[in-house]
Amino acid sequence: MTTKLFINGQWVAATGGTFTTHDPATEELIAEVGKASTADLDAAVDAARAAFENPEWRDMLPADRARLMFRFADLVDQHQEELAQLETADQGQPISISRVVSSKMAAEHIRYYAGWVTKIEGRTSPISTPNTFHYTRREPVGVCGLITPWNFPLSILSWKLAPALATGNTVVIKPASVTPMTAIRLVELADEAGFPAGVVNLVTGPGSIGAAMAEHRGIDKISFTGSTEVGQSIVRASAGTLKRVTLELGGKAPSIIARDADIDAAVAGNLMGGLLNSGQVCAAYTRFYIDTRREDEFLTKFAAGMEAMTIGAGKNESTQLGPLVSAEHLQHVEELVAKGRAEGAELVTGGERAADTGNFYRPTLFSGVTDDMTLATEEIFGPVLSVLSYQDSDELDELIRRANNTEYGLSSTVWTKDLRVAHRLANGIRAGAVFVNSPPIPDMAAPWGGFKASGWGNEMGPYALDAYTEIKGVWMNYGD
Ligand code: NAD
Repeated sequence: MTTKLFINGQWVAATGGTFTTHDPATEELIAEVGKASTADLDAAVDAARAAFENPEWRDMLPADRARLMFRFADLVDQHQEELAQLETADQGQPISISRVVSSKMAAEHIRYYAGWVTKIEGRTSPISTPNTFHYTRREPVGVCGLITPWNFPLSILSWKLAPALATGNTVVIKPASVTPMTAIRLVELADEAGFPAGVVNLVTGPGSIGAAMAEHRGIDKISFTGSTEVGQSIVRASAGTLKRVTLELGGKAPSIIARDADIDAAVAGNLMGGLLNSGQVCAAYTRFYIDTRREDEFLTKFAAGMEAMTIGAGKNESTQLGPLVSAEHLQHVEELVAKGRAEGAELVTGGERAADTGNFYRPTLFSGVTDDMTLATEEIFGPVLSVLSYQDSDELDELIRRANNTEYGLSSTVWTKDLRVAHRLANGIRAGAVFVNSPPIPDMAAPWGGFKASGWGNEMGPYALDAYTEIKGVWMNYGD
């Protein structure tokens, strides 16, 4: 089968050729995928522009737009298992994760923002101009380009699509080329829900289509999740049009394990936080700072936990660790492991492929890692974790300094029973999220975004409404 593009309410053949997507566990072909040309992109943008200006969408009553979104959420719910299976086939993630973090979370995001549609308010402003009433309106930004990565293709798309539609925008979606399948299915469900033609458009294709979107004069905003490097190129490409840009980028989350921590809980939480989706998580805990007096205990238990994990195809119910998304990414992870060894880090466990077929890599732990090593500075995006120790005598401020010694600032975690330590570290760490004694799972009601090179703006919660609206001030002179 060859998948199509969705433009102006129609499934149409791509004019740029095709590419393929594969099951990363078996390397089997899943589908030939339509490759959008720039002419296809222009058609999608034109359709989104026309739909944005069409009174059918522009003037749709909030209660009606909310009803459409609730219907969309219900459809995603009804197809949850199918979406989860499709995500696992295309992305590789264990089915238990696809069910909870992907398909269920997608439905919940759409339902959460459906609820917001009837609650998006302006303000009255206490201006000092005589005889003048001032109020603000929140208006949609316009045509939004939604560019998504391959690690959580379905849920990350829902983080963007739901608030974009709730606030009355129209969209052109471009999923990652290695994992396009659930985006295609989600758009089919949006169509079934009954959004007017042109409100939701989908172009599948390579990064160059994303780059063309960033430059496109017909696109008002780009919402991008992906690597910091591509995020930077989007900022450069969008400068010509000064379009709105929000960015959810890479991370290198520190995990600080205090001397008083419950080590068993820290081991369990960090195994999940570091190895969820084989470490292909922007918020993954990857740099473990552990008190030297608890280091041996932590290392032994953590390595044992890693070695006990069931590695296999995501579709097997017992799988805890699935394959990496592509052969190319597997090679990238291998190169970084080799670099870690060459720089002198000590391999505790793992460090090799786990099978001859499929992109499986053993969970890998290094100890003796120092702050300046590649393992501690570069985002690996695989099941490769590093232990850096600290002396008991170290001040918390020194620990905060080391945790912040990174260009990134997305996520972080602290393991302690001492509230004083938890609060001081939570205040001091420069990151968009600090999880205390818990793994890094976002929630649609809480903000998600990065400090520093981890991004611009926030998704989720009411914060995403800011990202998809412009504020208009209206000055009403009622004097003579
Ligand atoms: P990527 O940057 O390679 O690709 C992301 C998307 O951008 C894909 O759709 C790709 O086709 C497209 N793209 C590629 N080149 C482009 C260009 N020049 N202009 C516009 N678009 C372009 O990222 P990836 O490898 O798919 O995903 C992994 C990265 O995503 C990691 O760095 C990870 O930390 C990050 N990520 C961040 C978050 C977050 O919430 N902050 C969440 C998930 C993933």
